[in-house]
Amino acid sequence: MAFRTEEKELVCGACGETSLQTVVAEFDPDESVPDLDMRPDEPHRSYIKYWVMECPHCGYCNASIDIPAEFTKEYPMSERYRKPGDDLAGRFIKMSLSCEKNKVYNEAVKAALYAAWVCDDGNDEKRAAECRRAALKIYDSHKAVLSEDQNIVLLAADLMRRSGDFERVKKEYKGKYFPSTLYRLIAAYQMGLAEKGDSSCHKANEIPGIAVK
Ligand SMILES: [Zn+2]
Repeated sequence: MAFRTEEKELVCGACGETSLQTVVAEFDPDESVPDLDMRPDEPHRSYIKYWVMECPHCGYCNASIDIPAEFTKEYPMSERYRKPGDDLAGRFIKMSLSCEKNKVYNEAVKAALYAAWVCDDGNDEKRAAECRRAALKIYDSHKAVLSEDQNIVLLAADLMRRSGDFERVKKEYKGKYFPSTLYRLIAAYQMGLAEKGDSSCHKANEIPGIAVK
């Protein structure tokens, strides 16, 4: 058992209606080697689909629909919010919109990244790149706050490279200082990949000096 799910009644943080949702009740520690953007490998990869919930009444999407929304139900019911669609990638993009509106910007970036992972799995390169650009747009719009979060700054390098913006990686990460050695190694590795024009997925344990099993 890598994880166990259960059904739970939750009250929507946007419209106040109740619905039955699948929640991850228990999970084993993740000891797999992540990708450079911290995407877990199997078996944990399989439960990413439970990282987003959708209210069947108003369409509000978030990691859990009982997270209070800083907006009224009109927002999730709007055309703009509904545009990304109802598939898993679309729900993650809508979760990203919710988090941005709730001013939880690091979660907004990550939710757009999760949408990209779903598109990667479906071999939809165009949409995956769009999702990564959406994540970067949030990063750029809230840079003052997000540049304080080293995880997000490092993740942004992967978002830029995977969406083909090698010049930006070279420009922003050349000689960039990270307090942690691990992060410096990852950033340097991203630079090397960008210099080679490599936009593919890489694992953290490819990096010399990183001991991830
Ligand atoms: Zn709702």
